[in-house]
Order: sequence, then structure tokens, then C-alpha cells
Amino acid sequence: MSNDTRKSRRALVDGLFATAGDGSEVRLVISRCAACGAQSFPARTVRCAACSSAELVEAESAMDGTLYSWTATPRGGVPDSTMPLVVGLVNLASGLTVQGILADEADALTIDAKVTGCVIEHGVDEKDGATLLGYGFRLARCEEAAS
Ligand SMILES: [Zn+2]
Repeated sequence: MSNDTRKSRRALVDGLFATAGDGSEVRLVISRCAACGAQSFPARTVRCAACSSAELVEAESAMDGTLYSWTATPRGGVPDSTMPLVVGLVNLASGLTVQGILADEADALTIDAKVTGCVIEHGVDEKDGATLLGYGFRLARCEEAAS
């Protein structure tokens, strides 16, 4: 490969999410308790919060769910950004409730709206120019369900 000019992309925080396929399928990295079945996100590594068992297994959770609630707040300190930061709580089909950034504008959101996972860009690392990525949610559109 000659003179690769593609910018690198990496997770802002390791171990929170994984992508599959062409990168458009986003899954959360969770822990599941082998003793009681409780799930945790972020993944727990020492003891189960429900039963204190140390038998924790790393697993992945699909990010399909419904929007429980959300809020929008100005992005303080982000240059050139007039968009508010929209953060919501999502009840995942897997049973977990997870907080995450929403990619859609607040005006487009409704309680119980179907959402799915996506990758959100959090800016650029000043040291090496890599784009920093995190997980987020976006509205699940009808045309995607049909394809
Ligand atoms: Zn447990």
C-alpha cells in the first residue's frame, strides 16, 4: 500500500462496544453472571452486582430498544457547534437500560421510539489525528426494517 492517507479511527474508551459486519452493526460489550443471569453495562469484571458471584462472562448485547427518556443540553466548550447534545435512556430488548448520546435532533424523538445502535464521532485526538469513536443511538427507520 502506498502513501495511505486514511485517518485512523479508534474507540475513545476501550471495551464498551464492538462493531460487526461492515461496521454499521454496533453491539455493547456487557457482562453476564453465570450464577444468576444478571447483565451489566459497562461489563463488570470482579463481582456480580446482584448476587456477588465472581462467575462473570463477557458477552455482547444488541442495541435495539425503545427510548425511555432524553434531554438536550448546549455543548459547552465545543467550538463551531450549535447543535445541542442529546442524551437519552434506552430500554434494550436484551433487558438492560443504557444511557447514550442520541444522533437525532431532540425534536424528532418521542417516548418509546424504536432506536438502534450507531457509532458517534467524539472528535479528533490532538496527538495523532485519529478520530475518536463512541457508541450512541439513532432512530430505527422503517426503510431499514424492510431491507
Ligand atoms: Zn449474579
